[in-house]
Amino acid sequence: MWYILNFIIGSIFGSFLNVIIYRGVEGLSIKNPPRSFCPNCKTSLKWYDNIPILSYLFLRGKCRYCGSKISPRYLIVELILALGFTLHFIFFPIPIAFMLDSLLFITLAVFYIDFKIMMIPDFAWIVVGLVAVFDTFLHGELFLRVISFSFVLLILIILKVLYKEGLGSGDIYLMSAFSFLLSLPLSFYMMIISSVLGILYAILRKSKVIPFGPFIVLSGYFLFMINVLIYYE
Ligand SMILES: [Zn+2]
Repeated sequence: MWYILNFIIGSIFGSFLNVIIYRGVEGLSIKNPPRSFCPNCKTSLKWYDNIPILSYLFLRGKCRYCGSKISPRYLIVELILALGFTLHFIFFPIPIAFMLDSLLFITLAVFYIDFKIMMIPDFAWIVVGLVAVFDTFLHGELFLRVISFSFVLLILIILKVLYKEGLGSGDIYLMSAFSFLLSLPLSFYMMIISSVLGILYAILRKSKVIPFGPFIVLSGYFLFMINVLIYYE
């Protein structure tokens, strides 16, 4: 019963995240227009077109009104959050499951938005910061976290001075927030892992300008999970 509830709540957050991703990429406000609409024919969607996961499957990925294809991203995001919320609930105690839910949410948001428009939304590092404060409240280690944060921030500022174009301010905010959450030594692993992933991606794409945010959030999310498994049991 609780598993099903987590699955449903996850899919609802997934549906909300799809709105944030679409409107974030298009530069639209979250509140205006208030109703979801088809990006192709602009028809406002009815509530039954908007049921997470089910509507997509029922409509076979096409708009009910104009028949244009709906991006599979809608289904993928809803499924990942639904499964993620359920798995967090099965394997972790409640407060940690909520923290992991929040991190998975912003991981997907940054993943899609940064890859699409090379920008990290501000709410991402704010959410990581809030999770970090909450985690400090639960598990302490304030002093070590401050040292971790200061070291990482210092390294990032030096890098920013050396390579102005390589590192966006969004990357710096996001990494600093994660360095407070992960503390030492994991924040160093996060820097190393995300840099290696970013460099590999740049080599594969044969491009010097790449979004860095997706690699920060991916490594940060998984390292926090590892951190919980090692230290909080
Ligand atoms: Zn349509």
